Amino acid sequence: MLDLIIIGAGPAGLSAAEAAMQKGLSYLVIEKGTIANTIRQYPVGRSMFSTPNEVEMHEGTLKPVREKPTREEMLSHYIHFVLNLDLHINTDERVIAVTGNVNESFVVKTTRSEYQAARVLFAIGAMERPRRLNVPGEDLPKVHHLFVEPYAYVRKDALVVGGGNSAAEAALFLSEEGARTTMAIWREDWENRDPKAGAMKHWVRTPLETEIEAGRLNVILYKHVDEITETEVKLTAETGESLTLPNDVVFVLVGSDADLSLLKQLGVKTEPGKLTEVPVYNPETFETNVPGIYVAGHFTHARHIKAAIDVPRRIIPLIAKDLKNK
Ligand SMILES: Cc1cc2nc3c(=O)[nH]c(=O)nc-3n(C[C@H](O)[C@H](O)[C@H](O)COP(=O)(O)OP(=O)(O)OC[C@H]3O[C@@H](n4cnc5c(N)ncnc54)[C@H](O)[C@@H]3O)c2cc1C
Repeated sequence: MLDLIIIGAGPAGLSAAEAAMQKGLSYLVIEKGTIANTIRQYPVGRSMFSTPNEVEMHEGTLKPVREKPTREEMLSHYIHFVLNLDLHINTDERVIAVTGNVNESFVVKTTRSEYQAARVLFAIGAMERPRRLNVPGEDLPKVHHLFVEPYAYVRKDALVVGGGNSAAEAALFLSEEGARTTMAIWREDWENRDPKAGAMKHWVRTPLETEIEAGRLNVILYKHVDEITETEVKLTAETGESLTLPNDVVFVLVGSDADLSLLKQLGVKTEPGKLTEVPVYNPETFETNVPGIYVAGHFTHARHIKAAIDVPRRIIPLIAKDLKNK
């Protein structure tokens, strides 16, 4: 019987593990992939939008070569945080069900085992369900819903569908590394300049525009993708014109959503958030409407890495106090 099970070893889960250790709780982090799995899935060599103080686990401990850390510097930082503190983390183990209640304890069932814990913190991120276009051909092997690296696509025809930073970054990486790249984007996304409304960051847009001006990157304002085949993509342009593009690879990068099904099975209520559905929780304690079940990180209203690290440091002492009183 553990005091606390933490699901997910991203920045939120790692911060929670350290706080649990400091409070003397018996705890275990269960992670379906690797330490900082979401960051591992960023594009190779990508620079963060954030500065070190917004993403490091302790002040002054992340020392990037340039102003902003890269994916690789981030990964190394989080991995060494775990190794230095010898945090209890099981990787390659997915939580598949959580049942029980706060009076008798929760049972956490995974792909490898079953555990019992007094409290459960979901730090599961918001990457589990990449959004889909739901068009014919989307399951072909050449279609990807994640972009990690451009090097396999040099001198190939690549299409990137999407209007946010991830799509823009992928198009830029591909174009800069010699893929014949087309980006299909809605006009409202292309013309959006408001960072608060999800506009592309200017340090992505500026080099992207350089690629366009140099004639290496093609942008199509489109209405919808109609069909993907082995060799082509058919789409309807904003003008209503049907276009057929020769094509070797497609990246559909239109966002992703958290998988809230385990929480819902427990009876946790959800509500519409700014961008997507979020669990209902007490903003002070991050406890959901199901006593003993807590949430932190990217799938809550505190979305960015800084908040994902800060929130567990506030709430784990509250959990420890509550357990002590019982
Ligand atoms: C391409 C990209 C670029 C980004 N750039 C920035 C940036 O520059 N600055 C910034 O602040 N944020 C950025 N973000 C967002 C940032 O990645 C998140 O805010 C951050 O990862 C949140 O941390 P987290 O711990 O809440 O979630 P995550 O890091 O997503 O961690 C959740 C973990 O839970 C695991 N998990 C999920 N379900 C289960 C399960 N059932 N069983 C076991 N494990 C499970 C996942 O494998 C994952 O490791 C970016 C995101 C993307 C996709």
